[in-house]
Amino acid sequence: MSLTILGGGLAGCEAAWQAARAGLSVRLIEMRPQRTTPAHRTDALAELVCSNSLRADDPLFNAVGLLHEEMRRAGSLILHSADATRVPAGGALAVDREGFSAHIAKTLADHPGITIERREVTELPAPEAGPVIVATGPLTAEPLAQAIQAAAGTDSLAFFDAIAPIVHRDSIDFEKAWFQSRYDKGDGRDYINCGLDRDEYDRFVEALLAAVVTPPREWEGVPYFDGCLPIEVMAARGHETLAFGPMKPVGLRDPKAPERRLHAVVQLRQDNALGTLYNMVGFQTRLRHGDQVSILRLIPGLEQAEFARLGGMHRNTFLNSPRVLDRRLRLKSQPHLRFAGQITGCEGYVESAAVGLLAGRFAAAEILGLELPAPPPTTALGALLAHVTGDADAESYQPMNINFGLFPPLDPVVARPGAKPKIPKGRERKIGTARRALTDLTPWLLTASPWAETDRPRAE
Ligand code: FAD
Repeated sequence: MSLTILGGGLAGCEAAWQAARAGLSVRLIEMRPQRTTPAHRTDALAELVCSNSLRADDPLFNAVGLLHEEMRRAGSLILHSADATRVPAGGALAVDREGFSAHIAKTLADHPGITIERREVTELPAPEAGPVIVATGPLTAEPLAQAIQAAAGTDSLAFFDAIAPIVHRDSIDFEKAWFQSRYDKGDGRDYINCGLDRDEYDRFVEALLAAVVTPPREWEGVPYFDGCLPIEVMAARGHETLAFGPMKPVGLRDPKAPERRLHAVVQLRQDNALGTLYNMVGFQTRLRHGDQVSILRLIPGLEQAEFARLGGMHRNTFLNSPRVLDRRLRLKSQPHLRFAGQITGCEGYVESAAVGLLAGRFAAAEILGLELPAPPPTTALGALLAHVTGDADAESYQPMNINFGLFPPLDPVVARPGAKPKIPKGRERKIGTARRALTDLTPWLLTASPWAETDRPRAE
């Protein structure tokens, strides 16, 4: 009953811990120090390659804080080590980075079921070698990345991301925006449109040209493909380039003002099955995040927009997971291979560890002959898993952090007798979503599984 895990990063370490606690013997293979990545600086397991923060820790108002809490309740090694090495950072969970990695390394080394090998893996193990979790991260070494691409299909492994901002639908002003497909093709509700007249377009382009672009790290060398240039690069090529490109107005008319002459239109396409998130079509950008928010809010209808994700372009090896992985993170074409961490297209330290936690548990349950369902989609773990393995649009799949837009909407509530039922918004929505998640997580943690004894949730 053994499991092989490739990659000793955040996801690989968490997966190893979850599987070993279930009684499996685990072989964790990490290539550093034999070979390193352009971002790692040490040979430590679970090295934090940049910030020392695991972001906001509040479980009621912040989706990543909720994910922290769920992972704590699931006995997460990464969260336990973060709590043990925490440094003051206001409401954020920040850690002493060396202490954090050392805590993880010692916990894994002390576990009798885990062996750690230091060598580069250049090929995907064959089915005879038993079940495998691939958790080699956004900078997977080249030979293995090629092998993964061959197994998943050429179109299903990307080496760079090109992220367009994603907007929470309920923050769009539908007094100004409208639903319509170009030339009225489709069912008419495929796209949300935000129209700009000449002056609005001019102001938007001028703001773009004055904004600051995030400088790439020197090893990133993000190539620009003509099909997906950043909007600021297009604007710099000519004042009208955007109006003839992703902002072209042809085939669209503002139904509230049919006479209005639209100089440009920004289209947003549904990004998740729930219909809560919309991506800005063709709006990949490298602008600094603060500039993105202020410039995108110049677009009529997006003045109050809340962004589930801002744009970016990075070196990032990731699968088109909604297309190639099943609901238990197995490669559909070679189910002995499971994937975990950022290579599945989640984004961030915590999300990577969370997908590692799920992969470790799914692999352990499968090997032990137990039926472990996916966590409910109302939990942060379940919402993230659902996004990665199927709810996201495979055509526009790009890395994503956990956010409240990934959760199913709450049921309408009646605030006082006789009042119209309303779906909670803002603060109430966050609190309601978090409470529902923690309630729904408990039965999943207690599902007949090897972890049930140790996972009994703490008293609240
Ligand atoms: P990793 O932590 O990268 O772990 C993968 C491991 O696999 C590595 O240890 C690597 O050495 C090993 N490996 C690779 N190929 C092989 C092979 N062939 N054989 C054996 N071992 C192999 N997220 C945040 O939340 N905050 C940040 O500030 C942040 N900054 C980032 C900065 C950069 C430059 C990058 C690239 C990413 C950043 N991220 C950040 C995003 C992401 O969350 C982290 O990269 C995170 O470490 C991903 O976890 P992981 O376990 O999937 O991969």
